[in-house]
Amino acid sequence: MSHFSLKCRHCGVRLAAADMTVREHCSDALLTTEYTDRQFAESEHGGLWRFNWLPVHEVPGEAAGPVVFPSQRLGPSLGLENLAIAFNGYWPERGAGIRTCTFKEFEAEVVLANAKENGKSGMVVASAGNTARAFAHLSAESGFPVIILAPAMCLKDMWYLESSSLVPTLILHDGDYSDAIEMSQRIAGIAGMPCEGGVRNAAKRDGLGIVLLESVAASGKLPDHYFQAVGSGAGVIAVWEMSERFIRDGRYGDKPPVLHIAQNLPFAPMVRAWQRGTRRMADEDLDPNLIRKISTRVLSNRYPAYAVAGGVYDALSATGGVAYGITNEEICAAMIRFEEAEEIDIVPAAGVAVAALIQAVENKTISPQERVLLNITGGGESRIRQEGKARPVEDQIRVSKSMTDAEIEGLLCTVLKRT
Ligand SMILES: *Cc1c(COP(=O)(O)O)cnc(C)c1O
Repeated sequence: MSHFSLKCRHCGVRLAAADMTVREHCSDALLTTEYTDRQFAESEHGGLWRFNWLPVHEVPGEAAGPVVFPSQRLGPSLGLENLAIAFNGYWPERGAGIRTCTFKEFEAEVVLANAKENGKSGMVVASAGNTARAFAHLSAESGFPVIILAPAMCLKDMWYLESSSLVPTLILHDGDYSDAIEMSQRIAGIAGMPCEGGVRNAAKRDGLGIVLLESVAASGKLPDHYFQAVGSGAGVIAVWEMSERFIRDGRYGDKPPVLHIAQNLPFAPMVRAWQRGTRRMADEDLDPNLIRKISTRVLSNRYPAYAVAGGVYDALSATGGVAYGITNEEICAAMIRFEEAEEIDIVPAAGVAVAALIQAVENKTISPQERVLLNITGGGESRIRQEGKARPVEDQIRVSKSMTDAEIEGLLCTVLKRT
């Protein structure tokens, strides 16, 4: 018997299907996981697999999870008495062992475990960098084939772990991250493998939601506020979904955390739509030309799960959410401030969340005693580099949108032979 099923956020139908690459029941509605266990509990496993609310039956092996700790200096310097930091990255002194340095590794672990136990032969993944690194790492470790596609404009920020630097990676030369997502759907059809499916894959969201599980396990309560930089929206939707499970459990509070989302100006389609109070993102805010002007390509998704039922708009509505636009300069300043205070480097996207927290304090959107959870979605890259474990993506295979299906098929044969 499975310990979970899927529920459609629009019509409420329950699907017994355990396969999370199934994307939707009603159009424009997410499928969300329903766990038979109403009570939050520890499992018999450790690390990433420490808790019961994950859609996996056969745990693949040890994996590092997030670490959550009270802020030592950033919180006090902002006048916050209860700032907790969820650190997702590499910081061995703190027990943080995610060598690919972002929370995308949780997503990759859970998605791949779910796909494997559902008999998939491989998976296709589109990425702006961090997801590629996480999937390349797990594919190299487990031998499970993953076809990775990244836009060339993201290459300059991309790196792989030494142990996975030879994982073949398709590089899209004529398009951005969102074009790579489209192309990955075409490739999936040709390869006969599922697409990871991005935010619509409930296994991905539940993997990202581990951050809230770890936080509640540490403090015994739901936080009052949650801060995160958003790209696809998967991470914040995940936290909202996990908070609903905690509220149903009844022992951790009866209010979901207020979600504070942040994006990098001038590309901030969700932030702008929320600030205008609408479910519709404006076409001018989704203009691909804006993406060239931001410093956080991992936040450049032009198809975020904003309007979809059960998506970011609903999550912000349900929690009284707040949205922040952050400039490149503010990101830089926030990254430096965080590193000086907490003594670990963070990735630019995490700097976006820190900058949002600073704004929230300045605007008095949060008060000093409230419990705040700051998601540092990635960090410790400098540490990994110092240890000499970061490498460029060495096996790059060029693809373009104009390729025919036959050309793609030929290419996939080569890629899969090398995997
Ligand atoms: C992907 C990513 C985000 C955004 O998460 P979404 O779930 O896509 O909204 C934030 N920070 C980092 C470091 C990321 O890699």
